[in-house]
Amino acid sequence: MNIILLGYPGSGKGTQAEALSAELGMEHISTGNLFREEIAKGTPLGLRVSEYLSGGKLVDDKTVLEVINSKLEKPEKDEKSEEEKKPSKGFLFDGFPRTVEQAEALDSLLSSKKMELDAVIFLNVDEADVIERMSSRRICPKCSKVYNVISSPPQKENTCDAGCGELLFREDDQPAVIEKRLMVYKDLTEPLISYYHANGVFYEIQARGDAKAITENIISLIKTEIAKN
Ligand code: AMP
Repeated sequence: MNIILLGYPGSGKGTQAEALSAELGMEHISTGNLFREEIAKGTPLGLRVSEYLSGGKLVDDKTVLEVINSKLEKPEKDEKSEEEKKPSKGFLFDGFPRTVEQAEALDSLLSSKKMELDAVIFLNVDEADVIERMSSRRICPKCSKVYNVISSPPQKENTCDAGCGELLFREDDQPAVIEKRLMVYKDLTEPLISYYHANGVFYEIQARGDAKAITENIISLIKTEIAKN
């Protein structure tokens, strides 16, 4: 199965994608995490996209598609353990596509690989909630795990539970950048709701409140409705 998680920045896509990929064995592809990793490593790609991320702007479609293409070609990382190298049960896209052009390119890419898009799950939350969530979000720069200092804090203050070290406040989670990201979302990403409605693969989940309960609702949606279609 191949599934897209769609929603406002801060709607919980990353948190839900992590939980779902652990539960269902799907391969989590987060373009945001990929870009942050490249920036941290100081690669040419990282240097190229860094200003887009810090300014809350979208990276150009061509670069995004190159990254996605290479992930679909070579989904497993070499350093993964034998257990993790087992074939993935499909892709779980988080933060991609973000424009109609990216969605169209993904359609062609999947069909060229004889793959299908099974569902787009829209995580529905209020704008006020996402602003609050992003302000209290912290991330691990090494393993990309997402925390929230209010609703899902780490066991030890500001430290990743997986032992990676100190957590970071995302540069683009500052109020002025959040505002820009929400504008970009409304302009360029929200049209994907009608795009996927028209494709007949659109599902919606109320994504307010307890993250674990939301994960259970998504799993139940996948098992009872999406897997049967
Ligand atoms: P995210 O972690 O998904 O919130 O993404 C963080 C930032 O990475 C975004 O604000 C963009 O600058 C960039 N980015 C991530 N995914 C995409 C995408 N599909 N298209 C363009 N830019 C992206």
